[in-house]
Amino acid sequence: MELAKRVKNLPPYLFVQISRAIAEKKAQGIDVISFGIGDPDIPTPNSVIETLKSASDNKINHRYPESEGLPVLRKNISEFYKKRFGVNLDPETQIINLIGAKEGIAHAALCFIDPGDIAISPDPAYPVYEIGTMFAGGKCHMVQLRQENGYLLDPTDIPTDVAKKAKVLWLNYPNNPTGATANLEYFENLVLFCKEFDIALLHDACYTEVTYDGYVAPSVLQVNGAIDVCMEFHSLSKTANMTGWRVGMAVGNSEMVNALMRVKSNIDSGLPQAIQQMGITALHLSKGWINSNNEIYRKRRDKVVSVLNQIGVHTNPPKAGLYIWTPVPKGYSSSQFASDLLEQVNVVVTPGNGYGLGGEGYIRLSLTIPDDQIDEGLRRLSQFRIKG
Ligand SMILES: *Cc1c(COP(=O)(O)O)cnc(C)c1O
Repeated sequence: MELAKRVKNLPPYLFVQISRAIAEKKAQGIDVISFGIGDPDIPTPNSVIETLKSASDNKINHRYPESEGLPVLRKNISEFYKKRFGVNLDPETQIINLIGAKEGIAHAALCFIDPGDIAISPDPAYPVYEIGTMFAGGKCHMVQLRQENGYLLDPTDIPTDVAKKAKVLWLNYPNNPTGATANLEYFENLVLFCKEFDIALLHDACYTEVTYDGYVAPSVLQVNGAIDVCMEFHSLSKTANMTGWRVGMAVGNSEMVNALMRVKSNIDSGLPQAIQQMGITALHLSKGWINSNNEIYRKRRDKVVSVLNQIGVHTNPPKAGLYIWTPVPKGYSSSQFASDLLEQVNVVVTPGNGYGLGGEGYIRLSLTIPDDQIDEGLRRLSQFRIKG
């Protein structure tokens, strides 16, 4: 038996290494505080769980769902986009329901990338943009996100011959891992760039509802004419603490959405209908619920930023997302700093280079652990001594 190159060449999944380090510590009887994985610790709202309970009794939901998803969920997504972003979407042709955004992001590559094709990806980035491209036989041209640019992918960093050849450009704002945000003017610029070079603009918008200090994140589809070249990915995972339930969506250009639907209908049979019903309830969570959920993260953010600055790790609070992204002190690499933290004070953080070479020199801390663990983690961090 021989495995395919696409499997053999896979880098080890970042969090597998972290889990291993934690397991080794545990085996020595040491309990570790992990700021590693981004997965909301706050439970799914009750109203959403109640929806699942009653939907599970309905025998209609015991059968195969439709690949493109329940029309009523698509209609609710369209209403959400209208209300939240002022964007009009046709539920029949411009929206598809996903089993979480991740599968849609990975499968999108199969819609645009033939063997040898190029996709443009930010670096650092959510690893699925690059791996999805690789699975489709393509290659990613990585564009470094620079701190001095506010981690906005700068299209003038893309060589013209690459732009001419590229099929796809990935963006993600609010950004994981950097916490960066983009305004509408920035999106306008990138839509023009993609139109000029006939590139599909794929925007991962999973964090638009997780924002702080009054910041409101735009959708790329608010740009006039964006619908000609864009598909946007959304998810209820982070918005509504639903990572365990898997509700995502892709919206935008109808030809692009249709291509994704055709790919997916040959791979999966859609999102369980009872879970689609949960999605409908979650899309109607009140502004008040969203605000108080974000307020929990905002308090954690402020505590973490303050302790990092205290120990000499200079950090600014992000306006969105679930992560603190910060440069490591001088003289450390990402992984040296992360392993020193684990050795000295039994705290796990994610080394930035796990998100691409462009993340070297940074670490990421996730805000998705319970408050008592955050407090204990910060107590430990405050005892950390930077070398030399
Ligand atoms: C969490 C996350 C996703 C995946 O969301 P799911 O809907 O849970 O699959 C996609 N993109 C980014 C940047 C994320 O951080």
